[in-house]
Amino acid sequence: MVNSDKLTLVCTGCGREYASPRLHCDACDGLLRARYAVTSFTPDEQPGLFAFRDWLPPQTTHALPLGTVIRPSEGLGASLGLSRLAIAFSGFAPEIAAMNPTGSFKDFEATPTLLYSREQGIESLVLASAGNTARAFAYAAIQLDYHVILVVPEVAIDRLWIPCRPTDAVRLVVLEGCDDYAEAIALAGRITRVLGVANEGGARNVARRDGMSTSVLEYARFRDAIPEHYVQAIGSGTGGIAAWEAALRLVGAGVGDAPPILHLAQNAPFTPIHHAWTTGKPIEPDRNVEEQLRQIAQIDAPVLANRRPPYAVPGGVHDALTATGGRTYTVTNEAAHAAGAEFEALEGFAIGPASAVAVGALHQAVAAGTIRPADRVLLHITGNNELRLHQEVTLHSIPACWRVRPEALTDEKILAEKGRLGVTRGSTNAAR
Ligand SMILES: [Zn+2]
Repeated sequence: MVNSDKLTLVCTGCGREYASPRLHCDACDGLLRARYAVTSFTPDEQPGLFAFRDWLPPQTTHALPLGTVIRPSEGLGASLGLSRLAIAFSGFAPEIAAMNPTGSFKDFEATPTLLYSREQGIESLVLASAGNTARAFAYAAIQLDYHVILVVPEVAIDRLWIPCRPTDAVRLVVLEGCDDYAEAIALAGRITRVLGVANEGGARNVARRDGMSTSVLEYARFRDAIPEHYVQAIGSGTGGIAAWEAALRLVGAGVGDAPPILHLAQNAPFTPIHHAWTTGKPIEPDRNVEEQLRQIAQIDAPVLANRRPPYAVPGGVHDALTATGGRTYTVTNEAAHAAGAEFEALEGFAIGPASAVAVGALHQAVAAGTIRPADRVLLHITGNNELRLHQEVTLHSIPACWRVRPEALTDEKILAEKGRLGVTRGSTNAAR
């Protein structure tokens, strides 16, 4: 337990404190948040993610070139009448020193998560993903030689490329005939229960949230300030929670006096967080599932589709929006496409469909007068136009070690696949 002095986990719901590793509070449903022993903001001189190692769970670092690049807007700000628009670019664009290997901010969630798990004595992790998260974890697992089981619905297979040769570190399970990310989450949960492999935890994992939070820390490093507005496209909304948490740490360190107003955007017609926030109704992931899947199939940014976002839990998206006076937006495919094309023309590089949704939301916020001309704005471009990686990098697909139809699954079948999944014994330290 090398981390015992570095951080304490504090429940955002009831305030109970825990030692790592842990994903859940015993007393309530609240997210656990890391409280770091170092409270001052003293990033290193080095570029990238690990400059913020004091506020990242792992003790160890890695030489992978990860992190957000902050740059002043070159054309979009002027076009929108914003004098202090900064762009956080978290993809792959070597000409601006953005080197995230799989082209999205998921790269700087994956590496801290795997380093932290290893330090905690957790031998392997299982996680479900429908896209860029799986890519990032697969790549990081191979680089760190850490055993990861990835569960993906068959519909996501085309998005599962990585910029290195696959190894046995990654065991890919494909749900045949399946287009539902929620089914993949369910199987990942069963692998944890039946085989004892630790669940990665998603939004509940502080290493993931704090890795993501470094986009706001990077802004603070160079501006010595917190942005007044933070704009991002969301699926789970975890990026919004992470931005809020980063800002709370910065306020505690005397950098700025308030977190940014969160502007969180979803891709219409699948907009459960926007619907819940603007109507006050709960998110009901198991209601009208067919209709939800039909909506998900229509959106251009599938990475924004999450039927079970951490919305109502203490410390989750609802609390982050409430605490920051935040807003939510819906952006259609057409509006996102136009915003993405405009971004490319004005800023000089292409962005992915999820990031284009964020640009569309920024337009709406400016038009509504919610963001004013002299405000400090941070627009998070969370990932690439993937075409660029396909053109410039040698990419490899990951072979599946097990293909199974979800309706054919039993606990006995999962147990029988133990060897193929690379599970040599039960994970000794599965986080609760
Ligand atoms: Zn609690």
